[in-house]
Amino acid sequence: MFERFYNKLGLLTATCGLSALQLSCRPLGGAKYTLANRRLTEEEIKKLFTPLFSEVRKRLTALSRGKKDLRWALQRKLLKELIYDERGKPMYRRKLKEQKRLEQNNKCAVCGSKLPTKYSVLDRFKAMKGYTIKNTRLICQSCDTTIQQQRGYK
Ligand SMILES: [Zn+2]
Repeated sequence: MFERFYNKLGLLTATCGLSALQLSCRPLGGAKYTLANRRLTEEEIKKLFTPLFSEVRKRLTALSRGKKDLRWALQRKLLKELIYDERGKPMYRRKLKEQKRLEQNNKCAVCGSKLPTKYSVLDRFKAMKGYTIKNTRLICQSCDTTIQQQRGYK
């Protein structure tokens, strides 16, 4: 889940109930999907990302004027909105899950077992292509764990 993203960055564990940001994709079974998500090159990190990140941090500091709780809230909101930009809002993903559940006859797209009412996972074939009908499948938690491990979350 989302904690893995934080852990990957060496930050504190958070529980916002979002699924992991998927950095690569290697589905089980026969289907083949290209793995690589766009990543920044070292030069892009140096020339684009580092200055951007530093600017964002400076803005957060300036806007919060020494108020730690305000800075925290601004930072939290920024993080949330950026995640929504990538993943869509929770309401949209809930609807997509329902659609997928119907389309898949309430079965896990990987192992074929009956999907639990809660805790099923929307899995993207290609993270960059987002949460669309075409780019997702609904899977059980156990298959998700296996897939995440294969993708390098250990
Ligand atoms: Zn499964």
